[in-house]
Amino acid sequence: MPAYGAEWDVVAGPVGFESREIGADEITHTDQCDLLVIGGGISGTMAALKGAELGANVVVLEKMSKGRNTWESVGGCGSRMQAETGNVVDPAQYVEEILRASYWRARPDVVWSFVNNSGEAIDFMQDSLDKAGRDIKIYNTTQPETGYGIQVIQGEHKFAVPEDYNWTSWIFGPIVMDALTAVMQNELHIDLRFNTAGVQLVQDASGRVTGAVAKDADGYYAVEATKGVVLCTGGYEANPDMMKAWTRSEDYAASSCWDPSTGPTGDGHMMGLQLGAQMDPIPHAVMNFNFGTPAQFLDIPGIWFTSSLGIAVNSRGVRFVNEGLPMNFVSNAINAQPGRGKGCWIILNQGMVDAMADMQPTADETIKQYMDKGWMFKADTVADLAPQLGLDAAILQETVDTYNAYFSSAEKKDLQFRRNLETAMPLAEGPYYGLVTNSTVLTVVGGLTIDESCRVLNWDDEPIEGLYAAGNASGGVFSGTYPRHLPATSVGRAATFGYVSARHAIQGE
Ligand SMILES: Cc1cc2nc3c(=O)[nH]c(=O)nc-3n(C[C@H](O)[C@H](O)[C@H](O)COP(=O)(O)OP(=O)(O)OC[C@H]3O[C@@H](n4cnc5c(N)ncnc54)[C@H](O)[C@@H]3O)c2cc1C
Repeated sequence: MPAYGAEWDVVAGPVGFESREIGADEITHTDQCDLLVIGGGISGTMAALKGAELGANVVVLEKMSKGRNTWESVGGCGSRMQAETGNVVDPAQYVEEILRASYWRARPDVVWSFVNNSGEAIDFMQDSLDKAGRDIKIYNTTQPETGYGIQVIQGEHKFAVPEDYNWTSWIFGPIVMDALTAVMQNELHIDLRFNTAGVQLVQDASGRVTGAVAKDADGYYAVEATKGVVLCTGGYEANPDMMKAWTRSEDYAASSCWDPSTGPTGDGHMMGLQLGAQMDPIPHAVMNFNFGTPAQFLDIPGIWFTSSLGIAVNSRGVRFVNEGLPMNFVSNAINAQPGRGKGCWIILNQGMVDAMADMQPTADETIKQYMDKGWMFKADTVADLAPQLGLDAAILQETVDTYNAYFSSAEKKDLQFRRNLETAMPLAEGPYYGLVTNSTVLTVVGGLTIDESCRVLNWDDEPIEGLYAAGNASGGVFSGTYPRHLPATSVGRAATFGYVSARHAIQGE
């Protein structure tokens, strides 16, 4: 079968999972708890906090020196904050849009569980944040409609921090995770163990999962959990072999990696599969956006929004997408171009760059850094810019002229891709800029098959007793693409399913 082969050029993370039989003589001791949570990202944190609230003694294993925290907002509906803003999200519409985005490959019971429990989970996150005493407030926000027949669901919740908070990034996850981690560390019922990997699940003779083997600097030990084990190990973007095996190579071939963490290596996926768990059919959907540079997205902050002003052209110098679409769709289009995403450019003119500079005071410095790295070029004319980008000058000129003509036409319509020209600008006058663009992969969102209570299912669709999965280690919600127009559904799912799995493990409901 012809297939497009590619390498996933990323720093490989430390895999915790071991498939070999671990001898009893290797286990130094056995610890006891009610609930064992493997992974200390947002899903694991929520599972631990909910379990402790319900009176369980919880052990959390996190193999890195801190839980992964790269995210900005959390999605869901029915929260207190949503009620306060009067922003009504119809749960059935939310479910329908998630199903639509998966081409109806998602499991409705799992999607309904997310939608029905997400408001309660976000409220619980706020209650937990309040315990940290850092005045971090969750608020519900709205996104602009796309206007392209893609229904935005206004489920995004962001975080407000005090004005004097010493923070410069737009990513709030680290602030929130710091606070929630502090709450966990102060919680008597939670034993949070960093630099400790979950290695392998343990079952009793009936097949019930009764705990796991853990590994820290001193070696292997066992943790027994009477109520259950929750896999919260995230995706596998830091595991090149799994990326190659289970995702579309086109999705990462020319992409840079946007995840600075190397914790997500698919350990939970492998632990579940070893016990006969079912998994989302492959290829799994990745979370991929445009605005990428050939290196780490966050290397040079602040320029990402430029591409929403310019036009995107491929290595042949022609437009290929409505540049105003949600980020994942533009990214998919980039990956579908000749060269599978290599050699795509954003063409801007001075007016666009000036508009950008109005929005961002450090724009000049950012542009200089891009030019120094060879990611951005400037010329007085399109004809002079084209060879710097390796493009045919006549074709690029025709592309620009055609686009500009849409603005002066009687109907003022983008006849190629139906971009909304009311929110766009023509490439009227030079100088012109070419900004390299490629996709970025943020994470992988396919995982183990679960039911509405987050119990992991075997191939007969029966729960594997005692085993739960949440967040990106779990499946049933996404297929094909990660829908950015349903904002923050991935952290929403992670937070909600951490909460749901702990509640079910401890309360049985
Ligand atoms: C820059 C960036 C911005 C993003 N912004 C958003 C956003 O605003 N909204 C949104 O919805 N999504 C966003 N995402 C995606 C989001 O970060 C993830 O989907 C989400 O955090 C997944 O949560 P999780 O708990 O499932 O897994 P993770 O956050 O990946 O946490 C998993 C944890 O498990 C640990 N672990 C793994 N294996 C083991 C093991 N064997 N033993 C012990 N510990 C283990 C890892 O070290 C890690 O700490 C963003 C991603 C990136 C990279």
